[in-house]
Amino acid sequence: MQCHKCAGDMETKSHGENINLERCRVCYGLLVENHVLDRMRGKWMVETFLDIGAVSIGKKFDRVDDIQCPHCKVDMDKIVDPAQTHIWLESCPNCYRVFLDAGEFSDLKYETFGDKIKDLLKGKRKQVTATE
Ligand SMILES: [Zn+2]
Ligand SMILES: [Zn+2]
Repeated sequence: MQCHKCAGDMETKSHGENINLERCRVCYGLLVENHVLDRMRGKWMVETFLDIGAVSIGKKFDRVDDIQCPHCKVDMDKIVDPAQTHIWLESCPNCYRVFLDAGEFSDLKYETFGDKIKDLLKGKRKQVTATE
């Protein structure tokens, strides 16, 4: 299968018993079925095995939109994660596979963690100004 972001080769990767997806050998984009993505979000450390592309590569290819589903060859819809509107994903209207650029899955998965840190920092800053 060919990656529609960069025309690289996509290879099948699996993790554990019920996670498998396609990953591009060049841009490290991930093509994942919707229900598999849900499983991945709950799986400990799964991103260190599967989402291995550098964020900088992902950012570069994130600008490439209007891609077609490598499976169905139909135009993919651009969707935004409801919890994190800065993350744009491509979703296939036919097979419901989702294309994630390198680094995007890790970003999706750690939303809660990142938000907690941001909240902590804000809280700390407030405290500092209060005592000054
Ligand atoms: Zn690619
Ligand atoms: Zn498709």
